[in-house]
Amino acid sequence: MAQKQIVILGAGYAGIRAVQDLTKLFRRNPEYRLILINKHNYHQFITEIHKPAAGTCPAEFARIPISHLIDEDRVEFIKATVTQIKPEENLILFEDGRTQSYDYLIVGLGADPEFYNIPGLEGHRLTLRSVNAARLIRAHIEKMFAEGKQAPPEERPAYWTVIIVGGGMTGIEFAGELAEMKPRLAKEYDVPLEKIRIINIEALPNILSEADPELVAHARKVLEEKGVEIITGRPVAKFADNKIYLKDGEIIPSMTVVWSAGIRGNRILEESALETAGRGRVVVDQYLRTKQYPNVFAAGDCAYCINPETGKPAAPNAHNAIDMGVVCAKNIYNLEHGKELVPFKEVYLGSATSLGGTAGIADMGKLRFKGVPATVFKEMINVKYVFSIGGVPLVMRRLLGHLRK
Ligand SMILES: Cc1cc2nc3c(=O)[nH]c(=O)nc-3n(C[C@H](O)[C@H](O)[C@H](O)COP(=O)(O)OP(=O)(O)OC[C@H]3O[C@@H](n4cnc5c(N)ncnc54)[C@H](O)[C@@H]3O)c2cc1C
Repeated sequence: MAQKQIVILGAGYAGIRAVQDLTKLFRRNPEYRLILINKHNYHQFITEIHKPAAGTCPAEFARIPISHLIDEDRVEFIKATVTQIKPEENLILFEDGRTQSYDYLIVGLGADPEFYNIPGLEGHRLTLRSVNAARLIRAHIEKMFAEGKQAPPEERPAYWTVIIVGGGMTGIEFAGELAEMKPRLAKEYDVPLEKIRIINIEALPNILSEADPELVAHARKVLEEKGVEIITGRPVAKFADNKIYLKDGEIIPSMTVVWSAGIRGNRILEESALETAGRGRVVVDQYLRTKQYPNVFAAGDCAYCINPETGKPAAPNAHNAIDMGVVCAKNIYNLEHGKELVPFKEVYLGSATSLGGTAGIADMGKLRFKGVPATVFKEMINVKYVFSIGGVPLVMRRLLGHLRK
């Protein structure tokens, strides 16, 4: 009898959880073949990539080979870049011309940056979305600091100014981490410390708009003390000739503009015959299933699933991605075993934001932490995740990596 193929697209937070759960659920069912497809042969700890981007830790720290996370006897891993999904034919197309068919599909391809049609930004490459992008940001900053020394004096400030657009968690964590690197950059490139500018620009009235106001005030104070200039309530109008133009007319020259002001569903999804909403995310029901194609599920940042309690789509965060991976795996198993489907329920666990070094804030509903306790809390979340996907060996590997930093 031909094997049924369960294909998982993307080895991110959602995809890895789904494939690991499917492996357990179908362990006694060799008639099902599990296939994981990802464009790299590693899983990225995207929640950590602000660190290699700033240069406070190596890129290896933010990734782990997929072979360490899957049972290779049960799961076939295909390293390939997906270019299109053809749900009407149950077919996936890859960049290199190969194809893959499926009986069930879980789409976990994550998000792309959203540029809101702001002139000069479409296709901008300095975005905090992958380990490779983080590497590029770091290399770019180093290059600009080195080139600044050779530039005419009046042009030098632009080389030593890093602008981070977006005052959400991603932009703020990167700003805090980069501020930690200022003394090293000053020393290494012989640049006066006071000439190095890190500017965070946020269109909304405040940074970290969804966090508790007292914690936000603390975060602002900490970052400003570290020398991060924070501009809020002033949207970016365009980016041209290495200058950021604010809507109110101010122009800030900078050779390094890092974009972290928003995300959208992976761009290939709108080109596939799947219904999308909320900026290119796949519309799914409570069971994470698409309406048109009952064998196609979506999970994580690329899924558009309305939370019936809030009426809003589930937030794109790592916790939701992991929980969605669990639900997709369970529902495919249940469908094949004649059981009822389980709904995805969004649970708010709060958030922890690093501000660089040991500074941070954590907002867990009634419990709120600042400084070292918040940083410890964030690290505990990371360790819990690493343990959940790789057990004690992976936790130990990362701890040793930390010690070697
Ligand atoms: C800097 C930063 C900090 C963050 N901090 C936090 C935090 O503290 N807490 C939190 O909850 N969330 C945080 N987030 C958000 C969190 O990382 C995402 O919500 C989470 O990664 C979503 O998981 P996912 O599985 O949907 O997508 P991803 O983890 O992005 O995985 C998508 C996978 O698909 C692969 N892929 C993409 N396109 C293709 C293609 N065409 N072909 C093949 N493979 C492809 C990618 O390589 C990747 O492996 C942060 C995000 C960033 C950028």
